[in-house]
Amino acid sequence: VTMSGGWGYAEHNGPDKWFRNFPIANGPRQSPINIVSAEAAYDHALQPLALMYDPSTSLDILNNGHSFQVTFADDADSSTLTGGPVSGTYRLKQFHFHWGSSDDKGSEHTVDSKMFPAELHLVHWNTAYPSFSEAASKPDGLAVVGIFLEVGDENPALQKVLDALGPIKAKGTQTSFADFDPSVLLPDSLDYWTYDGSLTTPPLLQSVTWIVCKQPISISSVQMEEFRNLLFSAEGEPERYMVDNYRSPQPLKGRKVRASFE
Ligand SMILES: [Zn+2]
Repeated sequence: VTMSGGWGYAEHNGPDKWFRNFPIANGPRQSPINIVSAEAAYDHALQPLALMYDPSTSLDILNNGHSFQVTFADDADSSTLTGGPVSGTYRLKQFHFHWGSSDDKGSEHTVDSKMFPAELHLVHWNTAYPSFSEAASKPDGLAVVGIFLEVGDENPALQKVLDALGPIKAKGTQTSFADFDPSVLLPDSLDYWTYDGSLTTPPLLQSVTWIVCKQPISISSVQMEEFRNLLFSAEGEPERYMVDNYRSPQPLKGRKVRASFE
């Protein structure tokens, strides 16, 4: 059975239907998960996470009909992730967010079953492979840093991103987004949980080493509303607001979550 118009987050093509076209949806290392903090064992061998980002690699911002993403030049080791739970060098490809229609939901990972209103994903690929697309199907191909957003003070670091959303309201639109340093979006502490998982959107490839930061970053209610002004729909289609673009936690299936902190 094909999903008319492709996959999405609606009743007819949402996460509960993805297995029809992407049977790996029921696979052994799917994401996101609920992180049970008391069951995450501290692993002293985990290295500090090193995120070195070069603002000149920021290229453009795009509404892909599922989220919006900021894309980075990845033809050199300019914006990289090293350390943490992985070996070698991973290059930043893009970052994007998932969010809810209201502040009580929207994150993909949950912590002790708590949902956050949004979650940021910084997507990196392993330079042991020749390209992002080659890496995306390898068990150690991708490393994604997940950062929770929590409603509180206005976050000035997010404003440059939010101010760019006006021209990309509709699916398929993009605009240039130069000279942005994604490290401004990181929390003060890079303490993290890590586990082996997958992409949370089709094709749901089981290639992601997840690195989920313990400390959320803040966002104001007014700023949250700016995410919710985007559209799933393209220009000329009936308007469908881009909200609740998240997948719910998947079965752990025996996986262990490790913590970088005690
Ligand atoms: Zn994501």
